[in-house]
Amino acid sequence: MSARPTPKPFAGQPRLFDYDALSAHGMHVEGPDEGLRFVAGFEVRFTRKRGVRTLRIRVVPPDGHVEATLPWHVRFADMEDFIRSKASWIEEQQRALQGSPQVLAELAGEDEKKMWRQVVAATVPVLVERYAPLMGVQVGKLAYRNMKSRWGSCQPSTGRICINTRLALYPPECLEYVVVHELAHLLEPGHGPRFKAIMDTFLPDWRHARDLLKA
Ligand SMILES: [Zn+2]
Repeated sequence: MSARPTPKPFAGQPRLFDYDALSAHGMHVEGPDEGLRFVAGFEVRFTRKRGVRTLRIRVVPPDGHVEATLPWHVRFADMEDFIRSKASWIEEQQRALQGSPQVLAELAGEDEKKMWRQVVAATVPVLVERYAPLMGVQVGKLAYRNMKSRWGSCQPSTGRICINTRLALYPPECLEYVVVHELAHLLEPGHGPRFKAIMDTFLPDWRHARDLLKA
């Protein structure tokens, strides 16, 4: 009897199955397409997807649960091993989420949301009055909205500026940055070198505020 070498799984990677080969032979892969499991004390919401090539996990605000996206060929046991191997990374991500403005914004009640709006609506006109004459721009209507995906927007045709009320949760230089950013769009629609030069002229420290908002 000849000894056959044991196939080695990729280091740090879940063992792979060729789902398409299995299904071509009429075999099916275990488990549902999506669901919830608890692994090493973490709540894991998983989805199996075709077209996904590698197992991916992320820690999702505001509650810090783990979202796992599985290719069809990855077994649950391998997903669980992978999550266990990433436990300290997951905990680190969860700690970072606690108390972050992003999470506070998600958990906020109606009263808090009203308060952000008041703060932002009281501050933005003052900033516009300061910067618009310096930059030589005409500002139209000012609007305030609680938005998930953008800090502000600007309609160059009307001069209408819309500012995210969640900026109330960030240091004041962030609100100033977003206002100057939108005013700069009245001079330059893109984010290219000309835009950056305008920002450098009127708010030299703008990159610092931008980075605070990215964090
Ligand atoms: Zn922009």
